[in-house]
Amino acid sequence: MSEDFDIIVIGAGIAGASVAAHLAETQRVAICEMEERPGYHTTGRSAAAYEPNYGPPPILALTRAARRHFEAGGYLTPRETLFFMPDGQGQAFEKLMAVQQGMVEISPADARAKFPLLKEGYARRAVLDPGTADIDVDLLHQFYLRLFRQRGGELHCDRAVTALERNGQWTVRTGNEIIRAQIIVDAAGAWGDKVAALAGRAPIGLQPKRRSIAVVPGPEGADIMRWPMVGDVGETWYCKPQSGKLLVSPADATPVDPHDAYADDMTLAEGIERFEQAIDCPVTRVDRTWGGLRSFAPDGNPVVGFDSSDDGFFWLIGQGGYGIQSSPALSRLAAALVLGEEPPADIMDEGLVLAEISPRRFAD
Ligand SMILES: Cc1cc2nc3c(=O)[nH]c(=O)nc-3n(C[C@H](O)[C@H](O)[C@H](O)COP(=O)(O)OP(=O)(O)OC[C@H]3O[C@@H](n4cnc5c(N)ncnc54)[C@H](O)[C@@H]3O)c2cc1C
Repeated sequence: MSEDFDIIVIGAGIAGASVAAHLAETQRVAICEMEERPGYHTTGRSAAAYEPNYGPPPILALTRAARRHFEAGGYLTPRETLFFMPDGQGQAFEKLMAVQQGMVEISPADARAKFPLLKEGYARRAVLDPGTADIDVDLLHQFYLRLFRQRGGELHCDRAVTALERNGQWTVRTGNEIIRAQIIVDAAGAWGDKVAALAGRAPIGLQPKRRSIAVVPGPEGADIMRWPMVGDVGETWYCKPQSGKLLVSPADATPVDPHDAYADDMTLAEGIERFEQAIDCPVTRVDRTWGGLRSFAPDGNPVVGFDSSDDGFFWLIGQGGYGIQSSPALSRLAAALVLGEEPPADIMDEGLVLAEISPRRFAD
């Protein structure tokens, strides 16, 4: 490994890979990743959905701004999303309708024509988002890693950062190795606050939350790959066709410490029960399960920008359940901020307010 860089990015998930690819165009950049391969944690465990009406306001702006990149690179396969409003979820329905763009309310009968499993009487109302899609997450992640390498970036796996020290520049320890850089980018996902602590930063209160997923067979003979992604508007379950099967999540958000996450069986069983209340046929078998960590700052917005101590520590964490769909825009924005450039106009035009994602909101 070389010893001196302009910038060291910690974490090779989608956040680290994408920002590093942009930065490597003009800077000497290294990524340190503690696992043997990039994408092992949250990035490799998502539901791979692009939903421009899902998330808090900064995420909506970033996700909408990301669409051009997704489409230009061929990363999206259109898939509509259908939200159902069962009894007791009127408030969640109104909340969604207040911020949505391009969604249309359809009758429960029309909803059943699109999702034939829907049980009669479950959905009081239904709303369709025609602008959603499946994301090819691996293709996107590999694109950024390849671009990073082509631009001379160094990706170092199996290199957990264990100490960070500032003496004019940053000294980064990974096991027995020491490397140096002017700027550190903390893209450590669920470990974002742990990495910040190594650098002597106060935690921003990042909370990893576990989400579990089960893969179940679809009904015999049904053309399920044409079905929309479906879920209740209160986000207590969702289901999405994937690779000829159905991916079902209890939409759990259990606070946990950062770790190599796995699905929680009891939570999955309860979520599948909620799913079964919405559909006509029972789930008879679970083929595969996994879990992942969605990490949130206390206000639910991402944390992007230089630390208030102004010494070259850059935060890029707290992407929650939206880190893939926002990554093409978030990485361009983060790279501009790291380099002291103006934020990209097309992203700001979507209504992004930088103060809402700045780490300084916690310092104040
Ligand atoms: C079940 C589930 C469904 C989801 N569905 C969607 C979806 O449909 N659409 C969407 O947009 N988003 C979704 N998300 C969220 C999305 O996956 C995340 O927001 C995104 O992957 C976060 O990327 P990241 O790079 O920040 O984190 P990660 O991918 O976790 O990367 C962080 C990296 O940092 C490394 N690291 C940590 N500490 C150190 C250290 N000390 N030294 C070196 N390396 C370190 C880790 O090994 C890890 O590889 C989902 C998440 C889950 C769990």
